[in-house]
Amino acid sequence: MTTKLYDVVIIGAGPAGIQAAIHAARKKTDVLVLGRAENSALYWAHVENYACVEGIQEGKDLLATGHKQMEKFGARKMEEDVLKITRTEDSFHFELESGSHVAANAVIFAMGVSKKKLSVPGEKELAGRGVSYCVDCDANFYRGATVAVVGDRSAAVDGALTLLGYADKVYLVAKQLHVSKELLDRLESSSVEVLAKNWVKSVEGENSVTGILLENDEKIAVDGIFIELGSKGALELATQVGVELDTEQFKYINTNRKQETNIPGVYAAGDIVGPPYQMAKAVGEGCVAGMEAAAFAKKLKKQESV
Ligand SMILES: Cc1cc2nc3c(=O)[nH]c(=O)nc-3n(C[C@H](O)[C@H](O)[C@H](O)COP(=O)(O)OP(=O)(O)OC[C@H]3O[C@@H](n4cnc5c(N)ncnc54)[C@H](O)[C@@H]3O)c2cc1C
Repeated sequence: MTTKLYDVVIIGAGPAGIQAAIHAARKKTDVLVLGRAENSALYWAHVENYACVEGIQEGKDLLATGHKQMEKFGARKMEEDVLKITRTEDSFHFELESGSHVAANAVIFAMGVSKKKLSVPGEKELAGRGVSYCVDCDANFYRGATVAVVGDRSAAVDGALTLLGYADKVYLVAKQLHVSKELLDRLESSSVEVLAKNWVKSVEGENSVTGILLENDEKIAVDGIFIELGSKGALELATQVGVELDTEQFKYINTNRKQETNIPGVYAAGDIVGPPYQMAKAVGEGCVAGMEAAAFAKKLKKQESV
């Protein structure tokens, strides 16, 4: 069976991947988008800070519109995960979860970051209805409310301190804090109530979060819980083809302003490139990556036909 060769394959069907697909497809290149809307961070979001769009927009509706838009411009999509990528002299080969294969002259990594889950009862059911994985995104919805943050590391402490600017009462549930002295000092001199040597056993509520049950069986009434266990980038695939990561944390893909990585023909955009985790940034980077990847693939074709 022959493997179809695309000009550009985009891994990721969130806002960065969608915008990249729109711009690459409009440059008359053959584009394939891999991934699922429901695995995008945007799927559970209620967005009210995206320029030129008024009111609160449901993330899943924005994604549905985006998918229609990119397909209208000729991009193809396959709801499949990529398991493996290999690189030859002038193309990239992708092994998909169904066992099928595709290839491309240029590739855009737009896989976002997968937020670590607590994996406790109530978490999944109440995601987007009081359970959040993003303080920067959702703090504004908790003005005057009581919230809890769970986590042991700097993401959790920083999140709890940020929330003090919005919520009336902030709890931090932590087994044992592993943070710098500076951050610990800031925490201790703040009004955040630390529930130390404890963890969340379940998230309570019917239609929205009403409380959390702790490991010591204490119940705390809260309107929201922020799960800040650090983020894990979908980087394994990128490193399979030799893409360089940021040298400080090795959590993000390094790019320049053209969204180029260190490997010719490989681009990256969106959350996978680093914070702030915002749709506006993902879309902007996706636009640049889409145009650059299309130009790269076209140039390659021209060289081959000479
Ligand atoms: C609860 C919540 C609320 C938010 N609220 C806001 C907000 O109000 N405003 C705002 O601007 N931003 C908000 N955000 C952030 C915003 O959703 C992200 O910044 C944005 O979705 C990042 O886009 P992305 O395309 O980089 O990644 P994502 O949207 O996360 O998309 C990642 C894509 O990669 C795919 N993928 C991953 N691995 C593979 C693989 N191996 N093979 C194939 N596909 C793969 C997934 O299927 C998915 O389609 C929120 C996020 C959350 C979680």
